Amino acid sequence: PKNLLIPFDSLNPPIGGPENLPILVKNLDSYDSSSKITDMKKKKLVILGCGWGAVSLLRQLSKDEYDVTVISPTNYFLFTPMLPCAAVGTLDIKTLMESIRTLINTVNGHYLHAKAERVEFSEKLIKVQDMETSKYFYVPYDKLVVAVGCTSNNHGVKGLEYTHRLKTAEDALTIRRKLLRNFEQACLPTTSDAERKKLLSFVVCGAGPTGVEVAAEIFDLINEDLPRLYPKILRQEVSIHIIQSRSHILNTYDKKISEYAMDRFSNDSIDLLVNSRVNEILPDRVVFNQKKENGEIEQREIPYGLCLWSTGIGLNDLTKQLSDDLKPFQRNKRALETDSHLRVIGAPYGDIYAIGDCSTVRTDIGDHCEDYVRQFILNHKSIRERDESKLITDADIKNFEITHSQLKGLCSEIAKHNPLALEALLLAEELVSKYDKENTGKLKFKDLKLLFKEVDSKVTALPATAQRAHQEGKYLGKKLSKLAFADENFLQHDIHNGDIDDAVSKPFKYKHLGSLAYLGNSAVFDLPGHSLFGGLVAMYLWRSVYFAQSVSIRIRVLMFFDWVKRGIFGRDTVTV
Ligand code: FAD
Repeated sequence: PKNLLIPFDSLNPPIGGPENLPILVKNLDSYDSSSKITDMKKKKLVILGCGWGAVSLLRQLSKDEYDVTVISPTNYFLFTPMLPCAAVGTLDIKTLMESIRTLINTVNGHYLHAKAERVEFSEKLIKVQDMETSKYFYVPYDKLVVAVGCTSNNHGVKGLEYTHRLKTAEDALTIRRKLLRNFEQACLPTTSDAERKKLLSFVVCGAGPTGVEVAAEIFDLINEDLPRLYPKILRQEVSIHIIQSRSHILNTYDKKISEYAMDRFSNDSIDLLVNSRVNEILPDRVVFNQKKENGEIEQREIPYGLCLWSTGIGLNDLTKQLSDDLKPFQRNKRALETDSHLRVIGAPYGDIYAIGDCSTVRTDIGDHCEDYVRQFILNHKSIRERDESKLITDADIKNFEITHSQLKGLCSEIAKHNPLALEALLLAEELVSKYDKENTGKLKFKDLKLLFKEVDSKVTALPATAQRAHQEGKYLGKKLSKLAFADENFLQHDIHNGDIDDAVSKPFKYKHLGSLAYLGNSAVFDLPGHSLFGGLVAMYLWRSVYFAQSVSIRIRVLMFFDWVKRGIFGRDTVTV
């Protein structure tokens, strides 16, 4: 984009410049009067997004390390786990928001209310669109962190424009407004019985934690507040339906939890439509195929007054663009692939990282099988029955055989470099007999490669959760802190293969601490090795976990007052 850039020094004021010409913003400190430092020696760290990943990262940095710039179209951090509560008025949406300006003050950083559109890798520039005037400008970086979250996966279904999503604060407000307007419209004398039933039919497509929690919150609203406010609406006129493609809801949770949730919802007369796939969304009804117990497929329709689409994750505009620009290195259609140091695979110079929902760590042990075997032969003198000075030839690799117990050792070696490899290791051990067809107790190289390829295709991606984004942000923040001064402090011999990230830090390792979900005056906890579920006590425990996890004291205080307010006066059911 060189011909589009305007030298920063020739601009007055620095942002604004001549109409329609993108501007290069070289040094934000010089026009930010609140900033006291103008240290040109500091590296420019640009963070895209201000969600879970970005905020956890920011918290690890200190003032003197980088010239930090956060770019995001939203100027607040959103506490997403409680978003379903805001969608029905249990909590005020502002309770869940924390200003990014408060958060970046701790690192003397800058915030740009703008949207990243593209990364110019060779120039180390980000093309950014201002949210107010839609003008473009360029921001340079030395290190870039992509933490822009994801969008919902549309699974190729037509008519999603008629559905609602629940990802942002605006989404929560729109759902709340639509819910309450439907109730108001249902009470009008001009509304027919059939129309009233349609208005009061709430359909949720997708029974992951978000879909389930929204259904539970709508159920609470209907039972706790509406009889008092809308006495003319009969409970049996209101219906909640959950459409789920698999045979269980919350299918990533322990089976006992999933069964408990299904029982609970059936008792609450929430209509669970499992083994059902949505074909199309029409303006007034959802069309889906349901597989019956005898295997027959039946096409069905449900009229709706509000339909929520909450099925899986996909790339957003920026990450799709990045993924396309980095082809053929990027192969995943749902997220940007990183290595175990969270560096975007294929991006030049190794200084672009991706964290949170927009990314996934690649398990590519199948592709690197030959490298691993080469290293393994080198490390094991007993296997290498030959002169040390000789190079390992292709024939050595082709004739290589590994025993089952040696395979365990090889997998543990790989696991040190890849956060998903622990899962891969267990899978490889399970699959070994399948590839050792003659039961010789050994695997040939070609079978080992096939086994690793199967492991790659089976190992599940890291979960798209706040928990993972938080852990990755924290890990990367700590590493970037070390890297801030690494160039001066690191002696060349500490850096192997030119990999400075590897020299300052171990690869990222995800630790699953458990998952929770709210089910309407009850909650479930899927903890490693334990499953807990139950009524009110579990619900209060669920509240306390999120209360403790909130990012700021402000959010905690407001959350507490909202719960008290709701306890005394009921949910906020006024719409503007
Ligand atoms: P996000 O938190 O989504 O942040 C993305 C940021 O990027 C936003 O600030 C956005 O404005 C910005 N952005 C987007 N595009 C651009 C662009 N082009 N340029 C610059 N910035 C951009 N997880 C749990 O662990 N537990 C839960 O109970 C839970 N409940 C959830 C309930 C709901 C309703 C939802 C929607 C999610 C829930 N999650 C939960 C998932 C969790 O919210 C996500 O995994 C988490 O937010 C991911 O963090 P992130 O930093 O990757 O992205």
